[in-house]
Amino acid sequence: MRYYIAQCQECRPVLPLPFAEQGKRDGWASTHSDFTGHAVTIRTEDREENNHAEH
Ligand SMILES: [Zn+2]
Repeated sequence: MRYYIAQCQECRPVLPLPFAEQGKRDGWASTHSDFTGHAVTIRTEDREENNHAEH
């Protein structure tokens, strides 16, 4: 499963936000930086599904 991560560098505490869809992540990132002037970094993260991690 691929997660699209947005992380604001200026909100405290710094919390990475995982989105299931790239478009939603990009939408959040641009809305947040437009609204607050904050710097948001984006990245993707691939995680295996076949483990005991909680959903
Ligand atoms: Zn922020």
